[in-house]
Amino acid sequence: MSLIPRASNIKPNEKFDTIVIGLGPAAYSAALYAARYMLKTLVIGETPGGQLTEAGEVDDYLGLIGVQASDMIKLFNSHVEKYNVPILMDRVESFRADGEEYVVKTKRKGEFRASTIIVTVGTKRRKLNVPGENEFTGRGVSYCSVCDAPLFKNRPVVVVGGGNSALDGAELLSRYATKVYLVHRRDEFRAQPIILKLVKEKPNVEFILNSTVKEIKGDKLVRKVVVENLKTGETRELDVNGIFVEIGFEPPTEFARLNNLEVDVNGYIKVDEWMRTNLPGVFAAGDCTGTWLGFRQVATSTAMGAVAAHSAYNYLNERKGKT
Ligand code: NAP
Repeated sequence: MSLIPRASNIKPNEKFDTIVIGLGPAAYSAALYAARYMLKTLVIGETPGGQLTEAGEVDDYLGLIGVQASDMIKLFNSHVEKYNVPILMDRVESFRADGEEYVVKTKRKGEFRASTIIVTVGTKRRKLNVPGENEFTGRGVSYCSVCDAPLFKNRPVVVVGGGNSALDGAELLSRYATKVYLVHRRDEFRAQPIILKLVKEKPNVEFILNSTVKEIKGDKLVRKVVVENLKTGETRELDVNGIFVEIGFEPPTEFARLNNLEVDVNGYIKVDEWMRTNLPGVFAAGDCTGTWLGFRQVATSTAMGAVAAHSAYNYLNERKGKT
């Protein structure tokens, strides 16, 4: 992927029709649609693919059968590249209104101006907040099964959570680890039934339900995970070398607060059906929004990105009509 050279011609303070903040599926889709609407577009983000970088095989995106997430990102990138949209590898710190424009401040490359903004900043991983978690992060505590599963070949591990990430993670880890303990705080799952069925059929996966992790213990590396059964109060020490915390994501509270974006009751950026936020000319798309009751998929993110770009185009046209 040749991401940096394409943005090398961008000058500080340059003005765009729209700036897309983020670099996940929603951002790529917004950039594609904006470019096809012939809007002068800049994408600013740090990780091409966003959370998709942490996925393995993706088989629920129509038309791309059993595609590797890394190949999917390359496809998204090539598609945007075809329209010569510059992608700046940087972090947006904040943006502020300046008359009818917005000034977007980046961490390294200065400021840029835009008439509209499309926010696709995604979410942050949730933590367990138990003793040992911080201490052993990177020494047995992991937040990404896809990234770290091979490190646990022939070792026993714990996976925490009951959503798609945890069950996908348990499935993958069952191929490497000697034993996988799937610890979930309830006995019902958010994960799709198809993946749940697959994991239940694995002989080396043990489900520990209605249970939470109380503590992570070790020396230089993780050695034990203490779990408590929430119904009986009983505790059990699992002899493992790794623990994968796959318990979902936190809303983009700080980014929203810094930029005066209204959030919903769960802390996600509030948008209407046209992806409009409370700020004029600012749209949001993807996992950072509370849209569709939080059904967070690549398909829903790309759909939202397309709608946001369409709305930015309409907004600019309406504004032109008024002047
Ligand atoms: P999620 O769907 O929010 O599930 C989080 C899981 O962690 C839930 O089972 C939850 O328990 C549990 N949990 C939350 N906080 C906890 C805590 N403090 N202690 C213990 N357990 C806790 O998150 P996700 O699985 O990471 O998925 C995030 C989004 O990405 C979802 O929309 C998901 O569908 C999507 N995704 C999709 C795919 C796919 O389609 N293949 C793959 C990965 C992710 P409760 O159930 O009791 O709340």
